[in-house]
Amino acid sequence: MERLKYLAGYPQHIQARVHELIERDRLGAMLVDKYRQPHAVRSDGQLYAYVQALKDRHLRQSVPLGKVIYDSKLQVMKHALGTHTAISRVQGGRLKASREMRIATVFRDAPADFLKMIVVHELAHLKETEHNKSFYQLCTHMAPDYHQLEFDLRLYLTHLDVERRSRAPRSAVEGDR
Ligand SMILES: [Zn+2]
Repeated sequence: MERLKYLAGYPQHIQARVHELIERDRLGAMLVDKYRQPHAVRSDGQLYAYVQALKDRHLRQSVPLGKVIYDSKLQVMKHALGTHTAISRVQGGRLKASREMRIATVFRDAPADFLKMIVVHELAHLKETEHNKSFYQLCTHMAPDYHQLEFDLRLYLTHLDVERRSRAPRSAVEGDR
């Protein structure tokens, strides 16, 4: 059975079920059915406004947002679903903390719920660096169905991988080795 990199942390029986959906060519249809709503957050400016609005609603007390951008070079998994860089700089003798947030470009075309999930994840990191219990409490505070969304996002990324491989010409696939 081929390894599912986005689901590596999940139990075997769940991975087997996902393999079954892929083999029956059902995974994409299932996701489209469940996540029909697109979003209109296209530019970095729109992304900033979107993140700021969620932050104002749920995490008003946290550090100010710094730069917020879509990053096409970001690999989703390598950076644990996003990246969050703490930038401290001295301003007028006072240490001012601000945060830079980069969101992988794949989310620009993803369903609205997945963009929300990744932004919630990154916002929770404004308060918690680790993926610990209080981190996930912050996530579910902002998005009550956070855990389901993260799992389905992993299915979505798996689906995109399968699609990409099935579209690639045979020679290109062989050239991968
Ligand atoms: Zn994280």
